[in-house]
Amino acid sequence: MTTQPTTFNTDLPKRRPMPDLLSGQKALVTGANSGIGRAVAIGLARAGAEVAVNYVVGEEAAQKVVAEIEAEGGRAHAVYADVSSEDDVKTMMASAIETMGTIDILVPNAGLQRDAAAVDMTLEQWNKVISVNLTGQFLCIREAVKEFNRRGVRTDVSVAAGKVICMSSVHEVIAWAGHINYAASKGGVHMMMQSLAQELAPQRIRVNAIGPGAIRTPINTQAWNTEAAYADLMRLVPYKRIGEPEDIANAAVFLASDMADYINGITLFVDGGMTCYPGFATGG
Ligand code: NAP
Repeated sequence: MTTQPTTFNTDLPKRRPMPDLLSGQKALVTGANSGIGRAVAIGLARAGAEVAVNYVVGEEAAQKVVAEIEAEGGRAHAVYADVSSEDDVKTMMASAIETMGTIDILVPNAGLQRDAAAVDMTLEQWNKVISVNLTGQFLCIREAVKEFNRRGVRTDVSVAAGKVICMSSVHEVIAWAGHINYAASKGGVHMMMQSLAQELAPQRIRVNAIGPGAIRTPINTQAWNTEAAYADLMRLVPYKRIGEPEDIANAAVFLASDMADYINGITLFVDGGMTCYPGFATGG
């Protein structure tokens, strides 16, 4: 087996696969100062979108993402909000719309874990995860949909009035002992996403999700930062490599684009086959 890097992939390849795909569109990505959100913000910008980069505590990291996008000729702005605060989300959305003119693409991505065995889990741990991972997505989507509905289809940039790409997880379908708050939040995201897709389709708003498998970010460092941990992780990944944040960014660009115009209400798993029950590869 080739040795895999066990450091963060902070230097994303300067690939511009389809620069015109999102040209003229405006996007907001939450939790975009780190990991998957950062890569999605950069990916959307490389495809031509202007991007609002949300952060909660890491303003410096958010400004760095903005600078990286601008250095490549893109346009980006850092916007503060704790996504679990209704007031913060309303203020963030108003500010992003004022700065960019409107919003066409929302990627509610901010998320966290507070792990504990069920019997030891505090109400604070439960509430924190649900309020950021699930309620936070609801609040951002609600405010974005108001803008999509106010404005309708911008025929010069897209055939849809708006695109929402929820960041879910393989744990919307794979049970996860010791992480019941996280698994419940992602299961909730799944049914929220599908119900929204059904509700909003007549307004030409598409709502989908991405279900990442194991992606190399700070949220799961202990799962990949030693050779032993990496080898253990590979038991769960048929494709035998960890995912990189850019793998998720590529999926987000596709789902946000008109190439995906007939895709509504799905979770696109980007997981190297993790949802294919790898334990059964040798007969179960
Ligand atoms: P990460 O690097 O830890 O990023 C999480 C982001 O969420 C950070 O930018 C964080 O900001 C932000 N955030 C946390 N609480 C927030 C709040 N209240 N308001 C606004 N932003 C907040 O982890 P990641 O792996 O990129 O995770 C991104 C998303 O992907 C999450 O929804 C996660 O569940 C999902 N996911 C990740 C994996 C994986 O293997 N990495 C797999 C499946 C799903 P601060 O850093 O400032 O706190």
